[in-house]
Amino acid sequence: MKRREFLKSVGLGAASLAMRPGVFGEEASKGRPNILFIMTDDHASHALSCYGSKINKTPNLDRIAREGMRFDNCFCTNSICAPCRAVILTGKYGHLNGVIDNAVQFDGSQLTFPKLLQKAGYQTAIVGKWHLKSDPTGFDYWNILPGQGVYHDPVMIEMGQRKKYPGYVTDIITDHCLRWLKERDGSKPFCLMYHHKAPHRNWQPAERHAKLYEDIEIPYPETFNDDYKTRSAAAQTEMTIERHLTRSDLKMDPPEGLTGEALKKWKYQRYMKDYLRCVAAVDENVGRVLDYLDGAGLKENTVVIYTSDQGFYLGDHGWFDKRFMYEESLRMPLLVRYPKEIKAGSVNKDMVLNLDFAPTFLDFAGVEKPKEMQGQSLRLPLRGKTPEDWRTSMYYHYYEYPAVHMVKRHYGVRTQRYKLIHFYHDIDAWELYDLQKDPQELNNVYGNPEYAAITNDLKTELNRLREKYGDTTRAAI
Ligand code: CA
Repeated sequence: MKRREFLKSVGLGAASLAMRPGVFGEEASKGRPNILFIMTDDHASHALSCYGSKINKTPNLDRIAREGMRFDNCFCTNSICAPCRAVILTGKYGHLNGVIDNAVQFDGSQLTFPKLLQKAGYQTAIVGKWHLKSDPTGFDYWNILPGQGVYHDPVMIEMGQRKKYPGYVTDIITDHCLRWLKERDGSKPFCLMYHHKAPHRNWQPAERHAKLYEDIEIPYPETFNDDYKTRSAAAQTEMTIERHLTRSDLKMDPPEGLTGEALKKWKYQRYMKDYLRCVAAVDENVGRVLDYLDGAGLKENTVVIYTSDQGFYLGDHGWFDKRFMYEESLRMPLLVRYPKEIKAGSVNKDMVLNLDFAPTFLDFAGVEKPKEMQGQSLRLPLRGKTPEDWRTSMYYHYYEYPAVHMVKRHYGVRTQRYKLIHFYHDIDAWELYDLQKDPQELNNVYGNPEYAAITNDLKTELNRLREKYGDTTRAAI
């Protein structure tokens, strides 16, 4: 008998049980909420229906938005896997936490929010993708995929012990989370980091989703045939749908005789359908966990966060992958539900960063933010009370070059209306976008006299942010 059915059969709603001290940890946690941090890998916000996706539906993820807050301007500070994870754990930019690209091993001896939560009496756990090379620290329980992990019959490392599990990775990670939630010490509040591998490349769906979307044509993004005119770094990448998806990505040979635009479209359909099938399994599994929280009476006292380590190109600009400071990969989905403090169905337009996650969790736990953490707590924005001096610009720095996909090193500043980017290393190219007039970033207006004053202001702001965050990895402009 499921727990929910059991409660129903004995005539007790979850709410009445939760009133009893100690039953669900409410009393012992002294009102401090549990934290369930759900993170996927490479799930772009434009593949969630609550963000207006034109290509799929995510009913369970949408529940978090409907019952909580959707952030429309959440950005990462470096759009690539391991660096985003390190920023989230430390609340510090990559040049300070050390993980500037995927090649670096995370130094687990440094200060992270799970360590502080643990010290404050939280039970901490991470299950799923870790991707930081060193063993997790600051967790009472960890069960992670080695490196990227695999989609089918994955090996996982549970507290140092490797074990292979039959089945589909998204289901298995969820099973481990649910087991941990059921077996944890109910007298303490918990912080669970529930990290999926999906929908990371090479997008292998679960058997049950193999035919999903089979008979439909996924719509093409408006910038599918971008010619990269005015953008030299964009023109030099190796992440195009047309030329850089491999046999492993496509998992079959294209039909014979297909060339040019028709072949590019065929590849896009293969790529997107498998990507969206992987997302479908994430959506189902998040639904299982939300159902568990409901049934266990944990909904009211648990902050549920859904995000992805960064955004992704879903054929936008003719690409897959991420890395660039352009909108599709810079933007992260961010949904937060906490009925005690967040108005259901609210939408936030403030500029928030992955840098803010650690300070937010500490704030909920009543732990003071250490000085070295560079983000700001989102607790007031979550209550609909954003401070008047909230940030109006953000700083970005991408380092992984030369490397896979050949995206040039760059740093930049984004304000509410403009974005200024400097590509460097073996190139010296500036780009400026007026996001109000050109939201798709097709028209680089750097050097246009009309924007001379704006450009100067943005360079000043860029230098201010580099100084504020202590980024001296490159000489000043
Ligand atoms: Ca990623």
